[in-house]
Amino acid sequence: MPGAAVIDGKAFAEKLRARVAAETERLSSKHQIEPCLAVVLVGENSASRVYVKSKAKQAREVGIRAIDYHLDENTSESELLALIAELNANRTVHGILVQLPLPKQISADQVLRTIDPSKDVDGFHPINVGLLAAGQTSHAFVPCTPLGCMLLLKHRLGSLSGKNAIVIGRSNIVGKPMLQLLLNEDCTVTVAHSRTKDLQDHCRRADIVVAAVGKPGFVRGMWLKPGATVIDVGINRISGTDGKSRIVGDVDYHEASQLAGSITPVPGGVGPMTIACLLANTVKAACLANSLAGPDWLAMPTG
Ligand code: NAP
Repeated sequence: MPGAAVIDGKAFAEKLRARVAAETERLSSKHQIEPCLAVVLVGENSASRVYVKSKAKQAREVGIRAIDYHLDENTSESELLALIAELNANRTVHGILVQLPLPKQISADQVLRTIDPSKDVDGFHPINVGLLAAGQTSHAFVPCTPLGCMLLLKHRLGSLSGKNAIVIGRSNIVGKPMLQLLLNEDCTVTVAHSRTKDLQDHCRRADIVVAAVGKPGFVRGMWLKPGATVIDVGINRISGTDGKSRIVGDVDYHEASQLAGSITPVPGGVGPMTIACLLANTVKAACLANSLAGPDWLAMPTG
């Protein structure tokens, strides 16, 4: 019998979206402000098309105006930078999201550097990266996936102070910002990557395991400390024995749920939190742009 409690990201994300909807309603009725998100897609990557469609749809459902820009695969870097400059200057646009990956003729780093940091709701601009590292997040944007992980952890555990945490993976979009968030919550953090030795031993000491590796079932149950809290960021498509494909995480869920204290499922764990956090960041951007304090929950969990 699996012993771990399931951390229901889907239900938590629904509550977060309801809070965002209440806040957009307040901004509209009290301040005549309509939070607005510009979503930019370049090219025909089918996964990216699904993501941007879903982001724009969910934004509209909570009262955020979403403007879609779908640019041709052959768009030049200077054309994309010109669009971003236009969106930066447009005071009615509060958040700008450029869907990655970009076609090879465009430097993603250059594009991310060009977005106004105060509209960078993905939290990838170096200014936002630096503010997070400095623990100054009240006016910064934290990347949506690690922010979602942290909200789930705080919801499940309350204070994280003094806990041993391991983040497996050191990408700029998940692993590194997750390290900073955990440090800011006074955890003692190990970051593992492909060159890490004795990963299982590091894992066994951790009260909190965040797996962001991109390998199906990579983290095995016997690596876990009994009672650990496991956050599985992985989204991996595999073929089942019945020939149908399905999505699994980076953690062997069946094994891990025998030993962990609580665990996020895949799907239905971290995934739904990512877009909900994007919507929350957009509302935060609209509040900050108008020198308004957002509601307390928007500052959660990072001051
Ligand atoms: P990534 O950029 O490919 O990074 C993977 C990380 O895993 C790298 O740091 C890599 O180490 C490390 N790694 C690879 N093999 C390892 C090993 N044997 N032992 C320890 N570490 C190892 O991936 P990502 O963008 O962070 O995404 C990770 C996973 O999360 C993917 O499945 C992705 O689909 C999923 N994801 C989900 C969401 C969501 O909304 N739920 C959002 C983003 C990503 P090196 O640095 O040494 O190469």
